[in-house]
Amino acid sequence: MELYKENQLKIYNSLSKTKEDFKPITDGYVGMYVCGPTVYSNAHLGNVRTFMFFDVVYRYLLHLGYKVRYVRNITDAGHLENEDDESEDKIAKKARLEKIEPMEVVQKYTVDFHNVLKNYNFLPPSIEPTATGHIIEQIEMIKEIIEKGFAYEVNGSVYFDVLEYNKKGNYGILSGRKVEDLIHNTRALDGQSDKKNPQDFALWKKADERHIMRWPSPWSDGFPGWHLECSVMSTKYLGEQFDIHGGGLDLKFPHHECEIAQSQTCSGVKPVNYWMHTNMLLLNSQKMAKSTGNFILPNEILSGENNILPKAFSASVVRFFNMQANYRSILDFSGEALEASEKGHAKLMEAVSYIAKIDAGNTSTFDVQKWKTACYAAMNDDFNTPILISNLFDVVKVINQIKEGKASLTSDDLEDVKQTLNAFVFDVLGLMNENAQDNSGKVNGVVELLIKLRKEARENKDWALSDQIRDELIDLGIQLKDGKEGTTFSIN
Ligand SMILES: [Zn+2]
Repeated sequence: MELYKENQLKIYNSLSKTKEDFKPITDGYVGMYVCGPTVYSNAHLGNVRTFMFFDVVYRYLLHLGYKVRYVRNITDAGHLENEDDESEDKIAKKARLEKIEPMEVVQKYTVDFHNVLKNYNFLPPSIEPTATGHIIEQIEMIKEIIEKGFAYEVNGSVYFDVLEYNKKGNYGILSGRKVEDLIHNTRALDGQSDKKNPQDFALWKKADERHIMRWPSPWSDGFPGWHLECSVMSTKYLGEQFDIHGGGLDLKFPHHECEIAQSQTCSGVKPVNYWMHTNMLLLNSQKMAKSTGNFILPNEILSGENNILPKAFSASVVRFFNMQANYRSILDFSGEALEASEKGHAKLMEAVSYIAKIDAGNTSTFDVQKWKTACYAAMNDDFNTPILISNLFDVVKVINQIKEGKASLTSDDLEDVKQTLNAFVFDVLGLMNENAQDNSGKVNGVVELLIKLRKEARENKDWALSDQIRDELIDLGIQLKDGKEGTTFSIN
C-alpha cells in the first residue's frame, strides 16, 4: 500500500492562512508548479533556499508514493525591472550592459543555475518550460482575456484591467491587499503611462527599436509581461486547476496575485488549491545585497572563495542547515550557524554509517514504531523538517548507546531503523554522505593514475612493471580492461 494512504499530509495554505488537509484533485497524483529563476544573473542564495525547500516537498511526495508532475519554469524574457511602464526587461538590460545577445545571457545563467542545483543535489523537475518557448500560448491567452473584457490595448501594449476584474473577482485574495489601497499607494500616473489605472499590469509590451527580444503579435512587435508566462505554463502542463503552487514570499504580490487574476479570468475557476510560500534568507542578520558587500554566491560557499564565511562548507551541510529551519521562518545564514550544523551533520552521518555494522540483539530497548510515527508526523505537519531532524537525532542517540553496549535492537527493529533513517536522510532531505563519496572519487583518481603509469611503462617496453600494476590491482579487486578507446576498470 502506498504510504500516502496512511499519512494525512497537512499544508499551510497561504490563501486560507491555515493548515489544511492535503487532498489532491486526482487521487494518487500531484501537480506542483514553482516559479523558477529569471536567468539574468548568477543563482541567488535566497532563491536556492526556496528551490531547496520545494525539492524536499517533491522528494517527500515521491516518498509517500504520489505520482508527481513538478513544473518549474525558467523566465528568459519579460521580467521587467519594476512595474513601471518605462521599465526595462532584466535580461535585455544585462545584454545591453554586457554587449552580448540576450540569449547569451539566458544561456550563461541557465547553465549556472543548473550547475548550482546539481552541486546541491536537487532532483530535476519533471518539466522545465521557458517563457520564450511559449510565446504563441501567451498571445492566445491575451486574446482570450481581451475577448472576455478584462484587458485593453493602448499603443501596441496590452494591460490587464484590475478594476474591471475586481467587480466580480477578488484581486487581493492571496496577498490581502485591497484594490482601493493600491490606488493610493501607487505613484500617480505620469503623462507617459498608457495604463488606465496604475494598478493595471502589462500582458504584452510593445518593444522599442533598441529592444532585441521581440515577437510579432496582433498588437505590436513586442514581448509578454512576466506574470503571464506562469499562468500559461501552469495551465498547459497541469491543467486549469492544480494542487500546489510554490514560490518565495516576495512573489506573493504582485506576481501570484496577477497569476490568479489571469488564470481565473480564462477558466472561471480558482487555479490553485494550495499556495505555499518560503520566507526570506538573511546573511549575518542582514538583507543580502551586492552593493553592500553582504553577499555570497551558492558555489562560493562550497569553494570557500568568499569574504563572508570562515571556511568552505559542503553542499550537504548547507542542505542540513537549511532544513534545520522551518520554511516559513526567516533563515539567518552565517559562518557560526553553519559550523554548528556541520557538527550535527557529521554526527548524523557517523550514525548512518555505523548502523550497517551493528549486530542485532535479543530485545529492543527503544520503541522503533513510535519513533517512526513521530518522523512521519513531523513531515506530515506542513513539512516540518526541523522537528524531523530532532527525531532523527533520537535514533542517533540510540545508535551511539548500542556502540557503548548500553542499548540493543532486534533484527526486525534494526532493519526498520536502517530503512527509515536512510529514507529520510538521503531520499527525503537529499543529504549526501560526503565521506563515502569523497573516498570513491579518490580511489577512482588513484586507479586512473596507475593506468597512466602502466601505459607509460608499456611505451617504455617495461612489461614487468606493466604486469605488476595489473596483477596487484587484481589482487585488490580492481580489474583493468584494455580496449580500442584506452584502458577502463571495474571495482568488485
Ligand atoms: Zn511565476
